[in-house]
This record gives sequence, structure tokens and C-alpha cells, in this order.
Amino acid sequence: MRTIKDLDIDGKRVFIRCDFNVPKDEDGNITDDRRIRGALATIRYCLDRDCKVILASHYERPTAGVYEEKYSLATVVKRLKKLLKIAHNITLTTDVIGEDAQEKVANIKSGEVVVLENLRFEAGETDNDKEFAKKLADMADIYINDAFGACHRAHASIEAMANFFDKEHKAAGFLLAKEVKFFQKAIDNPQRPFIAVVGGSKVSGKLEALRHLLDKVDKIIIGGGMAFTFLKAQGYEIGQSLVENDLLDEARTVMIKARKQKVKFYLPVDVVVAPEFSEHATSKYLPAQEIPDDWMGLDIGPASSRLFREVLNDARTIVWNGPMGVYEMDRFAKGSLKMSHDIADSYATTIIGGGDTADLVQKAGDVEEMTFVSTGGGASLNLIEGKNLPGITALQAD
Ligand code: AMP
Repeated sequence: MRTIKDLDIDGKRVFIRCDFNVPKDEDGNITDDRRIRGALATIRYCLDRDCKVILASHYERPTAGVYEEKYSLATVVKRLKKLLKIAHNITLTTDVIGEDAQEKVANIKSGEVVVLENLRFEAGETDNDKEFAKKLADMADIYINDAFGACHRAHASIEAMANFFDKEHKAAGFLLAKEVKFFQKAIDNPQRPFIAVVGGSKVSGKLEALRHLLDKVDKIIIGGGMAFTFLKAQGYEIGQSLVENDLLDEARTVMIKARKQKVKFYLPVDVVVAPEFSEHATSKYLPAQEIPDDWMGLDIGPASSRLFREVLNDARTIVWNGPMGVYEMDRFAKGSLKMSHDIADSYATTIIGGGDTADLVQKAGDVEEMTFVSTGGGASLNLIEGKNLPGITALQAD
């Protein structure tokens, strides 16, 4: 994949598709700015080459055509100014392709940055609309995609727009290139033992990833809600725990394939159970064989954490996607936090899929200890599934 370094960008108009879709708390404060910091390398590279820089991103899911302040990129731009330390040279437009955007983009000078308002204020973005994409493409000489977290979506600024540029005028930014490099190397050419830790709510969301991983890894550890479908498939009583009854056969097939391929497959041996899905419910540890009929498993227990720690002991590469329990509730977060610490403590190359797992690793204070924490949830899962991402395919097309 060509990166920005392969292009001649000096003094040119460069459009950088970023992923500024950062999490915020209920008061609108940014709680994790990794996605903004992740874009800085590419932006600085362009500024150092006297480019006229146009930045664009989506933010959450506004109703197209309706401007709402809570979906504006204003807070993101404030943070960007602080991080780039060039406050006076960054302007936010009031629309995406309207009069204000056209005027600001037309008058941009070398070393200045114009940020377009939330791309999803325009319906054309999610519709992958060619006309909308053309209007964006007309703003620039060079198209750079640095929005890893959005690359799995065939949206206008990700796919249709890239098709208006030839190979000499489009490339990946530093963040996108780094994301792809880490996942590709880990999955296609890992140092062994290679261990996948997979958790989260449902088997259905991760089934393809599991199938693909079975051909690549030496061991798989399963936790989270999805573990109960596997436990039930083995004949355990799982009470009221999350389960996908229509996937019991699939779960059996995965376990049989693991055995055939000599991939070691680990499930929780004990669980934290509660009578209801609530932070305030009473809870207790029980062996996985003893979940009462009307209770549900909401986290892995301490024996599972110890077992998984031993399983991880000799790892040289670890890919982790999905929490071990309902980590949003403190009472059921221990298994996930321990997993984060154990992975952080290992001597392996550690790669953390984005979304919930990245959030969790941040809560655990382990971000700095990991080799790589992805900025993309869905996109990183797609890479683990071995799928082509529309954003990357569009960059590679002529
Ligand atoms: P996913 O988006 O599939 O990675 O799932 C993440 C979600 O799984 C988190 O919101 C967790 O609260 C949830 N989760 C993890 N373990 C359980 C469990 N045992 N029961 C219900 N939900 C769970």
C-alpha cells in the first residue's frame, strides 16, 4: 500500500480523511483523544511541506441535512489546535461542501488547515454518493486516507472520493499504514506461540473472526458473553446467561476444528454470576458447571483469570478483541481488567482491537504497555476476519 511518503505533495492542496469520531462524556467532554493524536503525524508531515491542508471526518450519526451543535466538530477542532499548537492557522467551516466550505478552501494558504464540518451532515456521505464525493475531490490535488476506524465503510469520503484520484495522487496516511501493518504482520507472519483472546457479547459478531483465526493461531482464549454459547454447546447449564441457541452447532464445529488443527481452545472454568443484569445485584463466583437456573454469568471468575494467565505465559504474539465480562459495571470488570494487566505484562507483541477493548485497556491504565492499540473497532475486526476494507481497496485501485 502506497503511503503519503511515496507522493510528491510539496505545496499542494491535500485532503486528509481523518477519523475524529472520538468518545465524549455526557457533558460533551472528549474522554479519549487517541484518534486525534493518531492523525497528527500525517498533518504535521503535510504542514512541514507547505501544503494547504483540508481535514474531514464524520462524527457519530447526525440526521443528514440537519445541523445540530452536539454533532459539530468544534470541540475536536479545539483539541486539535491545542495538540498542533498552531491555533491561528486552523479554521472550521460551517458546512461541508456549501458556500462557507468552498470559500474557506479556496482561500487557504500554505501551512494552513481548514477542517470541514461533520461529513455526515450531508446524506451523500453514507450513501457513497459520487456527486458529493466529486465536490470533495475538487477541493484538493492529493487524497490521503488516515481514517482507519472508518475504512470498513464504503462511504463517499472513504471510497467514492478515492476513485477520483489516480495512484500518484492518493495514498494512506501514517496512522492507516501503521494499523494495517500491525494487524497484517501479526496475523500473516506472527512470532509463535500466537494467541488470540476473543470476548464480547455475541458469537455471531465474531464468528468469521474465529474461523479465520483458527487457521492462524496456536491458542484461543474465549471470554465474555460469547463463552456461554460454547459452554452450552458442551452440555453445561448456563442459567440466564447470554446465549445464541441458533449457533450451538456452529460453536461445536469451531471447537471440533480447533481440536483437528491442534489449536488449544480455552473457555472460562468459573464465572461471576448475578441474579440480574445490574451493578447493584448480589454476585458470587461459581464453577462454570454450577450456574443456577435463574442466575446469569456476567464476568469470568478468578480461577479462569489464573488459567488464562498461564495460557498467555509463553505467548510471543497476542491479539485481543472483546472484553471478558460486562466491564462497564465495576462489579463485573475484574476479569477484563486482569486480562488487560496480564497481556500488558507479557513479553509478547500485543495488539489490541479498537472499540470496547481499547476503551477497557485505557481504563486499566495499560495503553502504554501494549505494543499497539488500534483506533478502529469494526475495521480491526474486519482485518482479523481477513476481509478487504473498502477504504484500502479504493486506495489501491487505479
Ligand atoms: P462486543 O461489541 O461484541 O465486543 O461486546 C462488548 C460488550 O459485551 C460489552 O458491552 C460487554 O458489556 C458485553 N459483555 C461482555 N461479557 C458479557 C456477559 N457475560 N454478558 C452480557 N454481556 C457481556
